[in-house]
Amino acid sequence: MSLTLRQTMIHLLEREELTAVDLARILLLTPREVEEHLPHLQKSLKDRLEISPARCRQCGYAFRERRRLDTPGRCPRCRQELVEGPWFRVRAPGAKGW
Ligand SMILES: [Zn+2]
Repeated sequence: MSLTLRQTMIHLLEREELTAVDLARILLLTPREVEEHLPHLQKSLKDRLEISPARCRQCGYAFRERRRLDTPGRCPRCRQELVEGPWFRVRAPGAKGW
């Protein structure tokens, strides 16, 4: 079950860059459930999982040093809770073997 789900997540992320919230909407999960899968995806994909840092919609602050994969709750600069991302993308493997 979760293997299939992770494969689906990989397929989606090969096609476009998405956040945990985007994935949750598509897969009918909660963002929290998606976030629980992300470390496993990162472990199996290694550097094929590309991550664009989360960003504050209010002031533009980018969470560049952050290692966690979930969405930050609050911006350290402006204190607003308007943070979106991080965005995930999976680089296609060299051969099309899916
Ligand atoms: Zn901010």
